[in-house]
Amino acid sequence: MFDCIIVGAGPAGRTAADGLAKHRHSVLVVEKASLPCNQPCSGDVSGAIAQWLDFDLTPAIWMKANKITYTSKMAYLVQVPINSPMWMVQQDVLDDFLIKQSQKIGAELRRFTQVKGIKLKHYVWEVKTNSEPVSGRYLIAADGAGGPMTKWLGWKEPKVFLTASLATRSIKGNAINFDFGTIKKGFIWSFPKADGYSLSIAAMRCDKLKDIKKILTDYATKCGADVRVSNLREHPLSLWNGDRKLHSQNARLAGDAACLADPLSGEVIRPAIFSGFNAAQAIDRVLGGADNAKEQYTESIAQEWDTDMVWASRLAKAFYQFTGAAYRAGVKLPMTTQLMSKILCGELHYADIANRAFNKLMPF
Ligand SMILES: Cc1cc2nc3c(=O)[nH]c(=O)nc-3n(C[C@H](O)[C@H](O)[C@H](O)COP(=O)(O)OP(=O)(O)OC[C@H]3O[C@@H](n4cnc5c(N)ncnc54)[C@H](O)[C@@H]3O)c2cc1C
Repeated sequence: MFDCIIVGAGPAGRTAADGLAKHRHSVLVVEKASLPCNQPCSGDVSGAIAQWLDFDLTPAIWMKANKITYTSKMAYLVQVPINSPMWMVQQDVLDDFLIKQSQKIGAELRRFTQVKGIKLKHYVWEVKTNSEPVSGRYLIAADGAGGPMTKWLGWKEPKVFLTASLATRSIKGNAINFDFGTIKKGFIWSFPKADGYSLSIAAMRCDKLKDIKKILTDYATKCGADVRVSNLREHPLSLWNGDRKLHSQNARLAGDAACLADPLSGEVIRPAIFSGFNAAQAIDRVLGGADNAKEQYTESIAQEWDTDMVWASRLAKAFYQFTGAAYRAGVKLPMTTQLMSKILCGELHYADIANRAFNKLMPF
């Protein structure tokens, strides 16, 4: 029997495995897919993740971007410098790092192992898989957006939004672009890859958009991509939409499964790694006999993430409602990008910006 079974080997599950193995707990990570994972990721990762990982991430970073371009419906292009460079990582290298690190210190990984059901019996989780069943004292659900664990654990399933991504080798370059307006209440982002481009689209406030793939392929064609030889896929995205309870007596939710994605920027990897790190710490404390450790996990995420996401959510509501006006009045201004890049690096919070604006409006 394992001390902890982690379902899902994405960034959240891998970080949690590392955190638990480091404290010499027996950990099993079950992943239905092969590895490196074929999860979509454009590769934009905040440098802030380094604080939760014990190893040097330099080999995974293939580019540090110091400028961004923006367009509105593919026109009105502006180029803006950024003070805190954006890390563009090779996702497979980062993934490999994370899992190998935890395996080196004792975590066990089972690939092609899909969890089919869970049952808590006398304080032990019995986990049914497509191969042999496994059992553990604790569970971390890190099975991503749209995974089954939330429902099986009896929590409310998050609302799932749509994204699509198109990987192509038919265009090359090093410009990072965000386009607003081509998709309603969302955005398209184009990120360079070592061997081409990754174009992605997200409907941030609309869950019933049927033609998201077509909008992206039209956009890609206009960018000069040969869509016939590109890899186009649709993916679920669960955005933060209010505080959630992320713990039960013997389980924790982490990453996309915990619905932590920033509803304004769509950033996920930083909260995924942050929550994986915290979930491991919480289970380590419970295994060590701390009485209040189960609530502490939800509380620490609420304090350090949710409070800021309240503001991100308010901003997102206004931003995606009036994208055109927001583009002209905000996005185009260099200061907006500087503030946003500080937020993504964890140097600034949305709440700080809201407070500054409030103090300007109400000086007394
Ligand atoms: C198009 C697109 C582009 C993106 N670009 C960026 C970006 O540039 N920067 C960024 O920060 N984020 C980005 N993201 C988000 C990011 O890739 C994911 O949200 C992030 O990987 C979430 O990590 P996670 O560990 O919570 O879940 P995931 O990475 O989704 O991992 C969950 C894992 O659980 C496994 N699983 C699911 N069900 C089961 C089961 N029953 N049994 C066993 N295993 C199971 C899955 O196979 C998967 O490997 C992007 C997302 C999309 C869709």
